[in-house]
Amino acid sequence: MSFAELGLSDKVQQAVASAGYTEPTPIQAQAIPHVLSRRDVLGIAQTGTGKTAAFTLPMLTLLETGRARARMPRTLILEPTRELAAQVEENFDKYGINHKLSVALLIGGVSFGDQDAKITRGVDVLIATPGRLLDHFERGKLLLTGVELLVIDEADRMLDMGFIPDIERIVKLVPFTRQTLFFSATMPPEIQRLADAFLHNPVKVEV
Ligand code: AMP
Repeated sequence: MSFAELGLSDKVQQAVASAGYTEPTPIQAQAIPHVLSRRDVLGIAQTGTGKTAAFTLPMLTLLETGRARARMPRTLILEPTRELAAQVEENFDKYGINHKLSVALLIGGVSFGDQDAKITRGVDVLIATPGRLLDHFERGKLLLTGVELLVIDEADRMLDMGFIPDIERIVKLVPFTRQTLFFSATMPPEIQRLADAFLHNPVKVEV
């Protein structure tokens, strides 16, 4: 399997070549075509498997059509920690080098002002930790009704950190018709229950 066979845009393929990757990892080869065809995906994969690019690369391809509107992010990625959220932003910077997309990071410990300004201008990709996202939502500056694609990453860590009630609230704020990508390293019963609740007819990818 080569990157050229996965259906990624030329811009994304160029960025992947610049990153020096010669072939997709198993999670990338299995997940990317389904993400591009707008299927929901349940990915059981650890960090280190190339999981981040498995959702970042097809998202960049899908975002090449359409444009961001004020206060209404087009896609939302939920991460359990600031560090993971920042790493995902770095992936968008690296793979989105040929794109003119607006990416915003909503994490604690950073002032609301800069984050608000970006959201007001419109963002293609919003990367957030659950608590900080809800803080912004409650301040009335953010609308989640335009979210076309939702990523819930590291779901089992979200559970360990007590974020499941926040995640359930956030999922109710995004459109029912969104596409959802759900990743977890393990699938205990509570995580399976959430996957069943959030995903519509998902493709299961396990590495
Ligand atoms: P992740 O599992 O997303 O944390 O990625 C782990 C590491 O693998 C990151 O440092 C990526 O830069 C790298 N990586 C992702 N995809 C590939 C690939 N197809 N070929 C080589 N390295 C990759």
